[in-house]
Amino acid sequence: MRFLRVMPLFFWEKCRNFAYSEMKRDNFSGQFSSISLNTASILSFQTIMTVTIDSNSGFCWGVVRTVQIAEQYLAEYDNVSVLGHIIHNPKEIERLQQKGLRTIHVKDFERISEEAKQNGSTPRVLIRAHGEPPETYRKAFELGIELIDATCPVVTKLQERVRKFYDQGYQVVVFGKKDHAEVIGVRGVCNDECIVVKSVEEGLEMVNMERKTVLFSQTTMDRPTFYALRDALQTRVKELIVDTMQNIAVEFHAKDTICGQVSGREDKLAAFAASQDIMLFIAGHESSNGKVLYNVAKAANPRTYFLEDVSELQDAWFDGVHTVGISGATSTPQWLMEQLKKAVEERYAEANFVAA
Ligand code: SF4
Repeated sequence: MRFLRVMPLFFWEKCRNFAYSEMKRDNFSGQFSSISLNTASILSFQTIMTVTIDSNSGFCWGVVRTVQIAEQYLAEYDNVSVLGHIIHNPKEIERLQQKGLRTIHVKDFERISEEAKQNGSTPRVLIRAHGEPPETYRKAFELGIELIDATCPVVTKLQERVRKFYDQGYQVVVFGKKDHAEVIGVRGVCNDECIVVKSVEEGLEMVNMERKTVLFSQTTMDRPTFYALRDALQTRVKELIVDTMQNIAVEFHAKDTICGQVSGREDKLAAFAASQDIMLFIAGHESSNGKVLYNVAKAANPRTYFLEDVSELQDAWFDGVHTVGISGATSTPQWLMEQLKKAVEERYAEANFVAA
């Protein structure tokens, strides 16, 4: 009896293995040789296209921490707001909004403070991982707003170091984007007196190398440009010393404050991207580290495509593709990458086989 139960399974396995080996042998050359399309279509083709999520992608611990803090407060209180979008990912923002999180700006402080007074509740505002300038804390205190500080500890550390050098009279230079939320916080701790540059050229143009200077970086910038900027400024200092015959060197320090959660992913992402036929990089358009990591993947595999949402998938990307890699920024939730994987498998795995 047992033999009879096992037999169909054995036959099925043999049949499937034969089908796969034939398909592999033809390597999708356009011929199905000994297998007819009808025979093939009744078999399972899940292994024909492999869709793999990069095991080093997903939320960084700083984002995990911020989202966890938000969810804890949302479970306890009806009314929790966040200053600016909690992370640079519209899909995750939408999910948290459905749980009651409201996105506000500092200009809304007075209004939410008034509303809370009328309801007899306490206004609660979460500070996201990017941090805020001291002015925000002062305003909140004046208006009786309870701040839930979810600033990433890496960003807090950067702010502390900038403050220390600024207080000692250094010219503070920040490699970053002037209007990025994290940089706005950093500018705040040095009275908006730092110089923010986003390229080597800007650095050489804007920085006064006759002053003692310290260079920092926004945590999510790319490391090669940071070091190119450091080298260019260092060279300028040396030229200056020679030109002016100064015997006291102009002080210049470079502090690499790029977060390891971004830079630590680069080599692994490049290797992963290079091993795939195509790469799908899913992240919010506003994500700074998303741009950096996307460029790393693109350099390793030119068939890397950026998308913010599953609906942006394009059929043309999948021509003759057998391996698809999925990765994302430090603000891309795992569930979104899973959703993308499922969509690719459902839409393209079998279609690719039939078209081959
Ligand atoms: S990328 Fe780094 S600095 Fe930014 S939130 Fe994540 S852990 Fe913090």
